[in-house]
Amino acid sequence: MYSLRKDFLSLFLLILILISNSIILIKAQIEENYIEYFIKVDNEGSAIIEISYKNNKENKIIWIAVPSERSLSKWFIENDTLIYTNLSPLIDISTNSTYYFYDNLTIFMPYPGNFKIKYNFSMSSLIYEPNAYFMSPHIMFSLNENALIKILLQNVENIEYYYPKPYKEEKINEKTLLLYFIFRSFSQRINRIEIYYKVTGKVFLEKVKINRFIGITPLRYKKIMENILFLYNEIYENLSKIFHTNLENVSVRFFTPKLGEVSIQGYTPFNASSLGDIYLNIFYIRFIKGYFEQAAIHELIHHFLWSIGISPEVLWFHEGAANFFSIYLIKRIGFEGAEMIEKDFINKGKKMEYLGFIESWTPYHQPINMQDYYIASYMVFYYLNETYGFEIFEKLFYVINEKKEIIKETSEIVHILNDITGEDTSKKFLEWGFSLSNGNYYEKIFSYKNQIIESILISLIIIFIALIFRIAIKRKFKI
Ligand SMILES: [Zn+2]
Repeated sequence: MYSLRKDFLSLFLLILILISNSIILIKAQIEENYIEYFIKVDNEGSAIIEISYKNNKENKIIWIAVPSERSLSKWFIENDTLIYTNLSPLIDISTNSTYYFYDNLTIFMPYPGNFKIKYNFSMSSLIYEPNAYFMSPHIMFSLNENALIKILLQNVENIEYYYPKPYKEEKINEKTLLLYFIFRSFSQRINRIEIYYKVTGKVFLEKVKINRFIGITPLRYKKIMENILFLYNEIYENLSKIFHTNLENVSVRFFTPKLGEVSIQGYTPFNASSLGDIYLNIFYIRFIKGYFEQAAIHELIHHFLWSIGISPEVLWFHEGAANFFSIYLIKRIGFEGAEMIEKDFINKGKKMEYLGFIESWTPYHQPINMQDYYIASYMVFYYLNETYGFEIFEKLFYVINEKKEIIKETSEIVHILNDITGEDTSKKFLEWGFSLSNGNYYEKIFSYKNQIIESILISLIIIFIALIFRIAIKRKFKI
């Protein structure tokens, strides 16, 4: 009994020592020369960022990532001692590439003293009540330094997820939260902080209509929505000419990403009979000009394809066309990001030996390596364009539109391509690894209709398929 109590006592002492050690550790880190980031996010999601540094050494050199001229944020520095600064491109040593939106600000301090860098960072939180998503700017600095990062969030209902985890959370008042993070020297693997949270208050939606396009947006993103609708109007004639069709009243909405949705740039839900509104991930407005616009045009092209009768069930065709023609258009407009997007697709696509795996891609089953599916689908259009020229697409869409039938098979598209080119294009598709087998289950099933025994089996299969179909029709899918 006594020894057990003694064990408890020593365990208690051990815990006490461990706790006090970690308190000392954190205190020590904060009291040392650390870089302090204070990110104050307002109700609309914009942030003021202050980076402070207290130096007590002579001849100190330190570098910190600051927004480059290409970003819309202008930084400035306040100092109470002599400093020398030098601005150079910020290099990502793992890829040997330059950061687009950030520079390396190197500061030399001959004497002890303080400095503070300040800048505004609009849309640091993307807010669409009740959802909000915060992603910090790049927090990068000399590898031998430590940083304490404080993030102040307002209107917080609750935090759903953060990465990395803060070491401390402080409730300033009912709705305001202050989160503390520490980025340690050398162990710095990540350089951003992500927070998914819920905000209080209701979304105030505004409707914008420009000709045949309608935008439904939170008031705070009205200008961005207007720009998207202007863009749609600007490219409409071009798309209408390529696809030989017109669209009526297409609606566009924004969304903020929930956990696991950051990589989705946009989507259009569809069921068996119609395509829904276009949804765009507002987060991509933070990317290089052209990315958000490409995603917006991509979704619009799904509507054109549907309008001429191409089912999203031939998903490779939908996604390949949506990317091929959206990249083609943003390049023509001259957005800076256009070449980057195109290069990325082509570089990755040219390394692919086979493309045929995309043939079985449907909206009902989303593969894990989705990126490969998008790239391979794009490459079919890329190679067709290289071989036959751009007119082949205009002819293809013209014939599809004239047919007035819903296209659900790759083989149907290849037939039309054969007619247009006067060549056997199926050879090319077979070389790419397509099977071009008719996957129309109904036709296959009915070819056995004279055989009585099998017809019983078929009836059962049809009932089974009908059941599946009923489920499929009820469910909405995204493309
Ligand atoms: Zn798509």
